[in-house]
Amino acid sequence: MAGEPATLGPMDLGLLERTLAERGEPGFRSRQVWEWVARGAASYEQMTNLPAALREELAVHVPLSSLTVSSEAHARDGTEKALFATADRRPVEAVLMRYRDGRRSLCLSSQSGCPLTCAFCATGTMKFGRNLTASEILDQALHFRRREAVDHAVFMGMGEPLINLEQVLAACERLPDLGITSRRTAISTVGWIPGIERLTSEGPPVRLALSLHAAEEALRSELMPVNDRYPLADVLEACRRWSEARREPVFVEYLMLDGVNDRYEQAVALARALEPPATFKVNLIPYNPTDSDFEGSTRAAIDAFRAALAERGLRATVRLTRGRDIDAACGQLAAAHA
Ligand code: SAH
Repeated sequence: MAGEPATLGPMDLGLLERTLAERGEPGFRSRQVWEWVARGAASYEQMTNLPAALREELAVHVPLSSLTVSSEAHARDGTEKALFATADRRPVEAVLMRYRDGRRSLCLSSQSGCPLTCAFCATGTMKFGRNLTASEILDQALHFRRREAVDHAVFMGMGEPLINLEQVLAACERLPDLGITSRRTAISTVGWIPGIERLTSEGPPVRLALSLHAAEEALRSELMPVNDRYPLADVLEACRRWSEARREPVFVEYLMLDGVNDRYEQAVALARALEPPATFKVNLIPYNPTDSDFEGSTRAAIDAFRAALAERGLRATVRLTRGRDIDAACGQLAAAHA
C-alpha cells in the first residue's frame, strides 16, 4: 500500500528492508524472511535459505516480533491467552481456541484497550491506548502460529477493528500466508458505519459480524453508547448493503443478559429488525462475568429466545464459551495482569 508506514510485515518491515538494503542484499530477501515467519519460524537460524552471516546480522538488528510476551495463561478447555506489550509498553491480548473438531481459532486485538464504553465489556473499562499496527496484529497471530497450525481468526479481541481498518485490512491480507483464508477471517464491529461502508465498497472477502445486543434503540444506547452516534436502524441498513454486495450473511452477536434483553417480546423485536432473515445469522452469547452489574441469562432463557427466533425463520446458534476460567472469554480481555 503506497504511502503507508512500513508496518506490513511480521516485524518492522521497514527496518528489515533498510537492513537488507544496507547490506546490498537482493530484493527477494524480505519475502523469504516473511515466508519463514508466516510458517512459524521462531528464529533466524531456521531460515536456511539465507546466508548464515545475514541470519546473524538480522538476529541482532531486526527483532522477529514487534511484541514481547508479558504472560500466558492456559484454560482447562485448551484455550490459551497471551498478554503482550508493544514497544511503547501498551498491553495487548490475544486468544487461541482449540476445538474438538480440530479447528484452531485465533481471537485478535485491533487496539490496545478500546475507546468505546459498552456497559458489559471489560475492555472498555481499561484505559484506551492506541490503534495497533498491522505488524502488531500479525505478531499476535504469529505467536500462536509458532506453536501449531491455525486456520480461523476473529477480530473479537480488544478494540474496535473498524476504527483501525487500514491496519486491520493490511493484516488480513497477510493472514492467508499463515494458513488462515479470508473466508475464515471475521471482523466484528459495534456498527461503525464508515468502516462497514468501506468493507462494502472495497470488498475484501472477510466475514462481517455485528455486535447487536438489543433491537430497541433506547436499550441499545444504554448498553452501547456508540448507538447514539450510529443508530441501529442505520447500522442494519449498512449491513444489508454489505451482505448484498458480498452475497454473504452478516453474523449477529447478541449477548444474553438476564432481565435486560432476554424476554420473548425482545426476541420478536429482534426477528423483526433482522429482515430479511436470510441476510443474518444470529449467535447468542452467554454472558461472561466482568466487573459490571449484569447477570447472564439462564440456559432455559437462552434456549427459549433461540426458539422464538427460529420460529420466525432466523438462524440462531448459541456460542460455545471458551476460556472463562482464565478471563479469556468474550468481553473479558482487560489486560488485568499487565
Ligand atoms: N469492538 C468489536 C470487537 C470486539 S468483539 C465488537 O464489539 O464487535 C467482542 C465481542 O464480545 C463483542 O460481540 C462483545 O459484545 C462481546 N462481549 C463483550 N463483553 C462480553 C461479556 N461480558 N460476555 C460475553 N461477550 C461479551
